[in-house]
Amino acid sequence: QTILGIETSCDETAAALVRRHGDGSGEILANIVLSQIKDHAPYGGVVPEIAARAHARHLDRLIAEALTSANLRLADIDGIAATAGPGLIGGLLVGLTTAKALALATGKPLAAINHLEAHALTPRLLGPVEFPYLLLLISGGHTQIQIVEGVGRYRRIGTTIDDALGEAFDKTAKLLGLPYPGGPKVEELARQGNPKRFDFPRPLKGREGCNFSFSGLKTAVREAVDDLRPLGEKDIADICASFEAAVAETMRDRLGRALKFFKDTFPEVRQPVLVVAGGVAANRTLKAAFEEVCRRGGFSLLVPPPHLCTDNAAMVAWAGAERLAIGLADPLDAPAKARWPLDPDAKRLTGAGV
Ligand code: ATP
Ligand code: MG
Ligand code: FE
Repeated sequence: QTILGIETSCDETAAALVRRHGDGSGEILANIVLSQIKDHAPYGGVVPEIAARAHARHLDRLIAEALTSANLRLADIDGIAATAGPGLIGGLLVGLTTAKALALATGKPLAAINHLEAHALTPRLLGPVEFPYLLLLISGGHTQIQIVEGVGRYRRIGTTIDDALGEAFDKTAKLLGLPYPGGPKVEELARQGNPKRFDFPRPLKGREGCNFSFSGLKTAVREAVDDLRPLGEKDIADICASFEAAVAETMRDRLGRALKFFKDTFPEVRQPVLVVAGGVAANRTLKAAFEEVCRRGGFSLLVPPPHLCTDNAAMVAWAGAERLAIGLADPLDAPAKARWPLDPDAKRLTGAGV
């Protein structure tokens, strides 16, 4: 099965072709991502109207490029998958409507994909990973821990009660006068800084459940910045390092609880797996923290390469391939949804019993 994937939920316009073989293994035939970072940088964040217009301008060309680079024609495609939510509604409509038009024109099935499901299933595109597994999703818009029980079967056991982790990185960067998106810059500067100079809070550490909170941390950074003004280079590096240290310690605590919950829930799983996805998964300090937690908890850690952790269409095509393989096609009037939790019971289950 060869699936065309389309991703337009935020500030990346992306098209990809992915093949799912009979044995369930995956292969990326083309994977094209056009980042709009430059368009949004002057505003310090993503501007929805600019994003939607840029998607509309570039998507057709990217799909054509993906087909050309894979040496395929539309007639060779077995299905079309597009992100239908959650995300910015203007961009979602551009991608989903394009997918519907292609599905209608070719007579091939449509898969309207939940963007979080695409992140969640990515490791299975790269190699055999059995259900159930634990997923930590850390991006600019989401911070969640999910138990992935199967295609379309998710149980959320933790989420942020305020800011997403990527957002916390970006806001910290902004307070320090660093350019958007700030995550990579904060990581880079932190390497020269003193992680012990500022004793920033470790939000929710030691508390019940697996939820996250990052807004207090951001406030603490703001107070440090206000005290120090004008900031020197050393101050900035020390704040970055201390911020990362606080995040890493919080993550170790929250994740440790999630690993334990997973093991208690699925004692029969011999070699449990933790998958980390989302743009923040690129951070090496945090990755070291995840490695440590997994080593202690007896988990294998799986982090897809950065270009498959951040938003891309290969993961959308793959989620489509997995869904279509079990007969989960969507009707041509499938709606785009700005909000769309992976777990239908997300509200009720958040942090419950953990
Ligand atoms: P979502 O997937 O939730 O809709 P998004 O498109 O913003 O949101 P991604 O593209 O997956 O998410 O990730 C972008 C985020 O990752 C940004 O907040 C960015 O600052 C952060 N990020 C990227 N690299 C790093 C890094 N090395 N360290 C920390 N954060 C990082
Ligand atoms: Mg993005
Ligand atoms: Fe994403």
